[in-house]
Amino acid sequence: MPIKTIIEPFRIKSVEPIHWTTRAQRETLLRAAHYNLFLLHSNDVLIDLLTDSGTGAMSTHQWAGIMEGDESYAGSPSFDRFKRSVQDITGYTHVLPTHQGRAAERLLFNVMCKKGDLVPNNTHFDTTRANVEITGAEAVDLVYPEARSPETILPFKGNMDVAALESLIARVGREKIPLVMLTVTNNSGGGQPVSMANAKEVSAVCKAQGIPLYFDACRFAENAWFIKQREPEYQNHTPKQIAQEMFALGDGCTMSAKKDGMANIGGFLCTNDDVLARQEKDLLILTEGYPTYGGLAGRDLEAIAIGLQESLDEDYLRYRIASTAYLGDHIAAEGVPIVQPPGGHAIYLDAAAFLPHIPQDQFPGVALAAELYLEGGIRSVEIGSLMFAAAAKMELVRLAIPRRTYTQSHIDYVVEIILEVWRRRTQIKGLKLTYEAPYLRHFTAHLEPVG
Ligand SMILES: *Cc1c(COP(=O)(O)O)cnc(C)c1O
Repeated sequence: MPIKTIIEPFRIKSVEPIHWTTRAQRETLLRAAHYNLFLLHSNDVLIDLLTDSGTGAMSTHQWAGIMEGDESYAGSPSFDRFKRSVQDITGYTHVLPTHQGRAAERLLFNVMCKKGDLVPNNTHFDTTRANVEITGAEAVDLVYPEARSPETILPFKGNMDVAALESLIARVGREKIPLVMLTVTNNSGGGQPVSMANAKEVSAVCKAQGIPLYFDACRFAENAWFIKQREPEYQNHTPKQIAQEMFALGDGCTMSAKKDGMANIGGFLCTNDDVLARQEKDLLILTEGYPTYGGLAGRDLEAIAIGLQESLDEDYLRYRIASTAYLGDHIAAEGVPIVQPPGGHAIYLDAAAFLPHIPQDQFPGVALAAELYLEGGIRSVEIGSLMFAAAAKMELVRLAIPRRTYTQSHIDYVVEIILEVWRRRTQIKGLKLTYEAPYLRHFTAHLEPVG
């Protein structure tokens, strides 16, 4: 009999204490934070599922790499190791380090886009959209309509609608589309994967039209694991072979190393285009740093070089995806409404279905996130009417799982707290805004309970 239990494929060498608070303390803390979890001090949070970005644990190998970091301004061997690791996986000619993913986006779109252009993507991440739009171009989301319904179960809900891409190109003309992007996995669409078949179709359309294809590659390793599990012809490929094959379909990528780079900071931009690379490097020097460090320390480059390879380890990916699904499956089995199927890096609670008695203008997602904190000191994030105002398509609460950070008993605890809140959901009240900033209001908003 094959062994069924999936365990954390690591043991713990260094620990970071987390802090219990009493319910009475949390009530006071939440009031002081105006019911906005961004305004809490992280010391007052027991399990922090606010984001999986930069919050993962590094390996002993990465920490050893940090000591090897060479901090030379130019020509550092740490850059050579970084570049070799990135090229080993992506195969792209030019590799530009940046301080985060959004810096790579800014360089790419500044060089490639102009006013009146359109950039199609399966779903733009918020910084990606903002960096497209600041150039005067329009960011167009082309995910399949079925993917927008939380309960529909499909293996590759992150896929791009290829017919919609073709008709967009036919309608506006190829010259208005400087590049097409594919986000793997589709973060804003629930952490849902993109299939190799879909990437091949998108690539074929782009090649036929002479349009470059770039990947937003933040979770390329998690996406590769889903392909291995769900596309039969890839079951005997390694995640690295799958990632290499996918990158070979495109002309470059942007990357946040705070996700599948397994680092606390960093990112990069890759391209095969010599002319673009020269322009991007000039901009990089202007605002980020010299092209062999790009705003990062040499030690960060070492951590990323090692982390990228570790993210493709099969034992790690099996545990990673299983632990996210474990949370989703255990609460869904008790009737808790979530975005199905569980994504790679996060579980999304459907707050509109969880709290149907709370109208949209009373922020059901914020009310649910506040309740998870009150009940068990868990921090999550609302992705709904507070974040997007009238543009909100769904009322979601995201529970993002940091990499290699929490154990199964932490997740069991989260399950217990969610189920407790689910049992007394009818007593939960909505909230009203008492202060809002003119933009990105969710970060700083103040709220209070209604009635
Ligand atoms: C996080 C993220 C980015 C931006 O990366 P930062 O390092 O936060 O700047 C871009 N795209 C996707 C899909 C992301 O998840």
